[in-house]
Amino acid sequence: MNFDPTEEQALAVESFRRFVERDIQPLTQPLCDAPYPKEIAHALLKKVMEFGVGNGWVPAEEGGCGLDFLSSGLLFETLARVAPDLAGIAWVTEGAALKIQETASPELKARYLPGLVAGDLIGCSAISEPGVGSNVRELRTKAVREGRHFRLNGEKMWTSNATIADIVTVLARTGEDDFTMFLLDRREHDFKTYEISKLGLNGWPLCQVVLEDVMVSEENVLGTVGRGLKEVMKGFERSRCFVSVLALGIGQAAFDAARTYALERHQFGKPIAGHQLVQSLLAQMATDLDASRLLVHRALWLMAAGRRCEMEAAMAKSFTTEAVQRVASNALQIHGAFGVTREFPVERHFRNARMLTIPDGTTQINHLIIGKNITNISAFA
Ligand SMILES: Cc1cc2nc3c(=O)[nH]c(=O)nc-3n(C[C@H](O)[C@H](O)[C@H](O)COP(=O)(O)OP(=O)(O)OC[C@H]3O[C@@H](n4cnc5c(N)ncnc54)[C@H](O)[C@@H]3O)c2cc1C
Repeated sequence: MNFDPTEEQALAVESFRRFVERDIQPLTQPLCDAPYPKEIAHALLKKVMEFGVGNGWVPAEEGGCGLDFLSSGLLFETLARVAPDLAGIAWVTEGAALKIQETASPELKARYLPGLVAGDLIGCSAISEPGVGSNVRELRTKAVREGRHFRLNGEKMWTSNATIADIVTVLARTGEDDFTMFLLDRREHDFKTYEISKLGLNGWPLCQVVLEDVMVSEENVLGTVGRGLKEVMKGFERSRCFVSVLALGIGQAAFDAARTYALERHQFGKPIAGHQLVQSLLAQMATDLDASRLLVHRALWLMAAGRRCEMEAAMAKSFTTEAVQRVASNALQIHGAFGVTREFPVERHFRNARMLTIPDGTTQINHLIIGKNITNISAFA
């Protein structure tokens, strides 16, 4: 086993880290407590896409950067450490690009993929609804065929990016037990989007999407009519790895801040880092991060090798997002009262970390996936 990144990966991460700290951090720092304005999101996306972040997993022959999953994960973590909101916007756009690359007709692909992999278009994926989260099969948004069009009605919730998105992929019910994915273009389709205010990751819009009699041409179907749920499910291994990487970046930022503070802050005549119980907190944080990183890198490595990793991605996602909450909480503890103020970044890391046990399968849902793989019995049925 080789736990070291390749020379190429190490160089790519190092040059991206320097770029992010010099060119991205000054722009994102003042923005992290309110949703990024659309034009700023585009400008920032364009910058990070030059390094393969937001388009890395799209193959080079389709206009993306064609990075392997592990390299891409390392770059995303580097960005998430400094600007997790931007990493989220980039990932969700990349998720839309991947759906189009894998399922769209050549015409749709030619129309949308180049813009998505260049940062000219922002994408999002609308699956969840007010009454439907973990059990996607219950979704109520309907698409009813009328000649060569479908009439869409319904309400989507928690759609990341939607208020700044140019295109939305929507999963809708097209039959008793079948679902279809549609591509909606803000310039052509009259859907409405609203921002939802929330606890953390406040630069990354989280939104409601309202569809009232939206007419969508059959040419905008992604994949095959009736097979949309299967197409969506295929993306979950990737997105669970991504949420884990985002969590790792946030956790690492919290750890770095706590270590620096512990070395600088003096109590009882020495740096608090010299007190055994503070060292114990730092040790637990470092161990949580390392254990998380090993699980995440294994899942990314399996994907890079073209292997399925349903259980490994569920382990990485559930463990990392829970562990990073402990890391962020301990980082806050090490800062004492300063930790709960806006003067230090750890309260934001704490709020950001708390967001991630929910999307792309809650911790409980991921445990059920692991349980199913261990026992061969599905607790969902
Ligand atoms: C930051 C963020 C970004 C998101 N981005 C998107 C997006 O881009 N697109 C999108 O479509 N959605 C998105 N979501 C929504 C997300 O996918 C859902 O919130 C998630 O699937 C859970 O659904 P829910 O919130 O309705 O909770 P519910 O499904 O109602 O679950 C509530 C609680 O019950 C538990 N529970 C449910 N079923 C079971 C069970 N069988 N066994 C044990 N426990 C169970 C859950 O673990 C949870 O604790 C996002 C959410 C967040 C927080």
